[in-house]
Amino acid sequence: MTGPLREALAAAVGPAHVTAPAPLDDVAGRPCGPFLRVRPASTAEVAAVVRACRSSGAPLVPLGAATAYWAPLPGLGVTPIVGIDLSRLDALSFAGRAPVVGAGAAVRPLDQALRGRGLHLPIHPDAFGHTSVGALVASACTSGIGMGAGSIGEAIAGVEVVTGTGEVFWTGSAARAGVPPFLREGFPDLTGAILGAEGGLGVVTQVALRPRPAPWRVHLRGAVPPERLGAVVAHGAALGGAYDTFRLARTLGAWEAGYTLDVWVISAFSAREAVERAVEVQRRLNAAGARIDACTAESAAARAGRSPDYDARWTGPLDGLDPFLARARLRGLDVNAPYEAFPALLDAAEALLAAQRGAGVPESRLAWYLAPDFINLGVHATVPKDADPWPESRSAPWFARFAALPIVPYRLGRAWPPAMLDGLGLTRALLHELRRALDPDRLFVPGHPLWT
Ligand SMILES: Cc1cc2nc3c(=O)[nH]c(=O)nc-3n(C[C@H](O)[C@H](O)[C@H](O)COP(=O)(O)OP(=O)(O)OC[C@H]3O[C@@H](n4cnc5c(N)ncnc54)[C@H](O)[C@@H]3O)c2cc1C
Repeated sequence: MTGPLREALAAAVGPAHVTAPAPLDDVAGRPCGPFLRVRPASTAEVAAVVRACRSSGAPLVPLGAATAYWAPLPGLGVTPIVGIDLSRLDALSFAGRAPVVGAGAAVRPLDQALRGRGLHLPIHPDAFGHTSVGALVASACTSGIGMGAGSIGEAIAGVEVVTGTGEVFWTGSAARAGVPPFLREGFPDLTGAILGAEGGLGVVTQVALRPRPAPWRVHLRGAVPPERLGAVVAHGAALGGAYDTFRLARTLGAWEAGYTLDVWVISAFSAREAVERAVEVQRRLNAAGARIDACTAESAAARAGRSPDYDARWTGPLDGLDPFLARARLRGLDVNAPYEAFPALLDAAEALLAAQRGAGVPESRLAWYLAPDFINLGVHATVPKDADPWPESRSAPWFARFAALPIVPYRLGRAWPPAMLDGLGLTRALLHELRRALDPDRLFVPGHPLWT
C-alpha cells in the first residue's frame, strides 16, 4: 500500500514534504507510529492528503510536538500511519480585528506577534511555547498560563477543519461567509465538539481568535509552607478576576522547602490598577500564611513581547524542550477538579509522590494551577532517558486511583482507564454520530478510546 500512497501524497504536497515511515517517541518516551510524515502547506493540501489516505484506506493522525504525555498518539504498530505535520501552516492574518492563524503556528511566536499589535494569546501550556495552536484546540487547553482568565474555548471564535472525506468547514460565526469570526453563541456551532477531540473529528487547519488586548501584569513571587497550602489555595477562588495565573509547586529534591508561589496579577485597564491590585493580593496572601519575596511589575517591553522577562515566562518548569529531551522523559498525570475536591486530591498526589520517591524517581513536581472556579493538579515525574524507575505499568494504578475521585481528566488519550468514558452516556453516542458524519471510514487517530 505504501508505494501508491506515497506517490499520491507526494502529488498532494510535493515529494520533498513526504518522509519515509519512521517511529516517533513522545515526551513520555512512548514509541508511536511508524508515521509516514507529510507536511502540507495549505488547507487545500491537507484536504488532498486526506483524500489520498481515504482512497488507500490509510489511517492518519495530525501531529503536533508530541508533548502530550497522556498518550493520544497511536502506539507502535506495523501499519504506517500518515502523520500530518502542520508546521508549514503558520500564517497570521486578520478578519476585521480578529486574528486568524494557521493551526501549525507555535504558541510563543504567535503570542509575540499578537503582542506586537497590543493583543495576546490569553492561555497556553506552562511549557516551552512549542505547542501548536491546533494542538491547543485539539487537546482543549484548560491549564497552565492564563487559566485564571478563561479556557481556550473562551479565547477562540471558531476553527477551520478538514474532515475525513476531505471537505473543509468553519465552525463559529466564521462559518458565515463574509462575517468576521467575532462570536459563536447563537449560531449552531461545532467548536465545542472539536475542542478536546484529539484529532478524532478532523484536522484543525486554522483557528480564529478573539481579539484580546494584552493586560498589564505584576508578578508576585514567594513561598508557602505545606501546612498553609489549603488556606492559600482557597484564594484561587476568592481572588477570581484579579490574576491570570496562580501557580503553587513543590518538587522532590527540594521537598522540604514547601511550595513556591507565583501569581500574576492583571489589569485590562492600566499598569497603575495592576499595581494597586497586586498590593491587595499580597496583603491577602500574606494573611493566609504565604510569604511574598518579590513583587515585579512587567515592563512595557515584556507586555509587547520583547524582553528577558518575557522570554523567561516560556521556559516552563523544565528549562526548555530540547535540553529536557536530551536527558529525560516526562511521566505526567493531570486533572481538573472543583475546589471541594482539594483535600482528597492532595492526599492522592502526596501518596503518588511518595511512591515515586520510593521507586527512585529523582525528580518529580507537584503543581497546582488555580482558576476562579476549579483547580488543576499535575504530578510530573522526570525520569532519566536511559534508566527508567517509573515505567508506564507503574503509572496505571495511579490513573485508576485518581479516576475514582471527583475529577475531570483534563485530557483523554490512552493513559486513563477506558471505563471513565462509560459515564458519558448519550454525549458519547452523539459524538460517535458526529464522527460517522465527519469521518465515515474511521481513519483518524486509530485506536483512540474516545473514538473506538
Ligand atoms: C513540561 C510540560 C509542561 C506542560 N504544561 C502544560 C500546561 O500547563 N497546560 C497544558 O494544557 N498542557 C501542558 N503540557 C502538555 C502539552 O504540551 C500541551 O497540552 C499540548 O497541547 C500538546 O501539544 P503538542 O503540539 O505536543 O501535541 P501532540 O502531542 O503532538 O498532539 C496532541 C493531540 O492533538 C492532536 N492534534 C495535534 N494537532 C492537531 C490538529 N491541528 N488538528 C487536530 N488534532 C490535532 C494529535 O493528533 C494528538 O491527538 C505540558 C507538557 C510539558 C512537556
